[in-house]
Amino acid sequence: MPSQAVTISQRGVERVLSGHLWIYRADVLEPGEADAGAIVRLQDHRRHFWGQALYSSKSQIALRLLTREERPFDRAFLAERIAEAATFRQQVVEGAEAYRLVSGEGDLLPSLIIDRYGPCLVIQTLSQGMERLKAAIVEILQEAFSPHSILERNDVAVRELEGLPEQKGTLAGENISEVEVEENGLRLFFDLMGGQKTGGFLDQRENRQAARQYARGRALDCFSYAGGFALNLAQRCDSVLGIDTSPEALSLARRNQQLNSLNNLEWKEANCFDFLKAADQAKQRYDTIVLDPPAFARQKSNLEAAWRGYKELNLRALKILNPGGFLVTCSCSHHVSEADLLEIIANAALDAHRTVTVVERRTQSRDHPILLTVPETHYLKCLILRAL
Ligand code: SAH
Repeated sequence: MPSQAVTISQRGVERVLSGHLWIYRADVLEPGEADAGAIVRLQDHRRHFWGQALYSSKSQIALRLLTREERPFDRAFLAERIAEAATFRQQVVEGAEAYRLVSGEGDLLPSLIIDRYGPCLVIQTLSQGMERLKAAIVEILQEAFSPHSILERNDVAVRELEGLPEQKGTLAGENISEVEVEENGLRLFFDLMGGQKTGGFLDQRENRQAARQYARGRALDCFSYAGGFALNLAQRCDSVLGIDTSPEALSLARRNQQLNSLNNLEWKEANCFDFLKAADQAKQRYDTIVLDPPAFARQKSNLEAAWRGYKELNLRALKILNPGGFLVTCSCSHHVSEADLLEIIANAALDAHRTVTVVERRTQSRDHPILLTVPETHYLKCLILRAL
């Protein structure tokens, strides 16, 4: 058992009982002698034991629950959690070479991300506690998976809330930045050191496959990044146009196109809001449209602007969708629920004078588990719609 104890309030105890893994600073009665990033014993004012957690001296999320058990959360315990996560992946990734091996709270390893890209692993340690465990995590990964390289992509703004520096680099093995990996039968390059997130948007893997089923005719992939959806659509469509504001992303998309010897794709560097508006004015029409924007509502305070953003995008897309066409529309803002997104799109459809049916209601790929009692882990929504 950890020697350091943190005393939590009755509301903190209720958080634990509700199955959430986060306890906010306001629910800490007495941090005791707890160091930044220590594994601490959670107790109430009567010293009753409630679990073990990672303590942060800085973040509003003061405690992240690791276990309700008394058994010490040592290296062996950590290795077991990682092994459990890996075993589950074998059941759900269906031969994919790039997937999320450990998905933070969803794998009961709060604030730890481990992504696998073929022979390489990329990790993010997003709290003081996980940062302290980083060396142990690297050792465990080397023993369990013998990866070619282990990289860190800790160049993310949330680390600031923990008082941690932004950093990226190689933690073990060879210095590698680019890998070539198979996904949904396509060969794809991932830029692990320079790309967005840990190199790619692994959470959309199953949705890219699903979108392919309905794709046809003239297709548009808005917010394309390195062409993830576009390349899948191109397997079935006459032509696909991928749009993104990032020239680096589009140059990777072009290379992915060449790698797969596809000649029915084009790319355009543009703001999707402007592009969709201009496309409507120019009377351009499409049979398949994908909208996969970045999170518009990272905080609750942005919610109103986010609603407007989603409404405008979906409205513009519906206006240029041919009758019988498919719209694959996503939101990765946890604060916008599936019910919210359906309501936004219903309003957009009314404004666009379109009748829309819901073909599929989807979420993040299964290698990003949703923990039922931690709503924040259900962040991605992907609706496949058909406009009559
Ligand atoms: N669909 C991609 C992931 C998209 S992530 C996949 O499956 O891999 C969101 C992308 O939107 C990023 O590549 C970012 O560069 C781009 N982006 C952000 N704002 C944009 C805008 N206003 N117009 C076009 N692209 C934008």
